[in-house]
Amino acid sequence: MMSKMSRRGFLGTATALGTMALASCAAREESTRSLGAVRAPGQLPRRGEFIVKNAHVLTMDPKLGEIAGGDIHVRDGVIVALGRDLSVPQAEIVRADNMIALPGFIETHWHMWGAVARNMAGPTENTGYFYISRLLGQFFTPEDNARGVRLALAEAISSGITTVTNWSHNLLGPEYADAEIKVHKEVGGRARFAYGYSRKTPPDATLPLEDVARVQKQWFSDSNDKLLTLGIAPRGPETNSIEIARKEWAFAREYRLPITTHMGTSLERVKQRQGIQALAKFGLLGPDVVLVHVTNNSAEDLKLLAETKTPVSLSPYTELRTGFGITPVGSFLRARVPVSLSVDTTILCGNADMFAIMKAMQNIEDGLQKSEFGITSQRVLEMATIDGARALGLADDIGSLTPGKRADLILVRTTDVNMLPFTIATNMIVQSAQPSNIDAVIVDGRFLKRDGKLTTIDMVQLARDAADTIERARKEASKEGAGRGINELFTR
Ligand SMILES: [Zn+2]
Repeated sequence: MMSKMSRRGFLGTATALGTMALASCAAREESTRSLGAVRAPGQLPRRGEFIVKNAHVLTMDPKLGEIAGGDIHVRDGVIVALGRDLSVPQAEIVRADNMIALPGFIETHWHMWGAVARNMAGPTENTGYFYISRLLGQFFTPEDNARGVRLALAEAISSGITTVTNWSHNLLGPEYADAEIKVHKEVGGRARFAYGYSRKTPPDATLPLEDVARVQKQWFSDSNDKLLTLGIAPRGPETNSIEIARKEWAFAREYRLPITTHMGTSLERVKQRQGIQALAKFGLLGPDVVLVHVTNNSAEDLKLLAETKTPVSLSPYTELRTGFGITPVGSFLRARVPVSLSVDTTILCGNADMFAIMKAMQNIEDGLQKSEFGITSQRVLEMATIDGARALGLADDIGSLTPGKRADLILVRTTDVNMLPFTIATNMIVQSAQPSNIDAVIVDGRFLKRDGKLTTIDMVQLARDAADTIERARKEASKEGAGRGINELFTR
């Protein structure tokens, strides 16, 4: 016989169970949100274990392809598994309904310190990018450089770029390098810090190689930390002598540091200096050397790059704006030269929108070939992900959503007006998507953007700092550049 008591007891138990279930849901929800909670400066979000649930996954892994309704299991910064209906009881659930999941973008050449001088390139030769960036740069303190890097990183993460190349060429002293590296550590994105030169580096001198060695020892001694890697960014044989380049390359290879340098920015330079052929002659090409731009080149140059598997970094928006030429992406691909994509400098190109960069690459190539079928969106997306990883020598760790690789991925909403309706996912990413569609950005298993908000950067402080730096640098530069139209430019 069931007594009233026991019935009440049963109901009570059932209610208690229901409450517990609700409470555990709430706790789980709470703890899932905490994956992307805003942190105090210097504190990175915890990695945890979670499943990105029900996304349209563009893995960029040729074996895995595209997975509709796919799940991604991440634990301690590693992609553990990909598939449908994954069930891992202890993992937190991150809903990704109506979202496209894909590897974070990997960019390979960005003068990040200059981000605080965004759009400062004036309309004349006296006030244009090259003059103005040099003029302003000399008044930057280490803190100003750091502010530029932080602003650039905020924009990178905001727009889905999970790996940047900080092509650092305003290093006026060792403390500048330290200040920039500290910002990378504090923000938490993946980065190559490419130690470059400054206007203080004499024309017939190498980079401060001793300080590069000091930086490597001080900041990069943990070889397990692949979030931040070191390289060098010398001026190269088109702006410096090949003898200097040989010394720099020899140093880099002895210290196992990758190299990046500008090349082929004008046809005249190519004819006069023949930089690629000079590098080839001394064995200075190779997969450890990223050549930037190369928009002007010879057939012989392309052959040498292909033979030595030397990647190029193309930044279509600055190449167009500076008049380096119309980015000849197809000519590299046909010659089998590895291609990666980059921002270069927002002083000139205005923003760091990798969606726009990809769209430009597809549209420029189709235009050059006078064909709708010049290059596919899939191929362009490869350049922005796996080929970027290859260019940086990081393809074993990032560049595709593959079990065993680090969890660098982005979630893009498909319910925003510019994305409707859902059709061909790769076209949607390359031709329609914008940074504002990005819901989440995960680097090394950490949410650096969640629900559209950055978790490791104080945006109010960032805006204040950027305005403060450029205001002061402009005032000082006005005195220095007086008579060149600088004052007119700065008082608009
Ligand atoms: Zn550059």
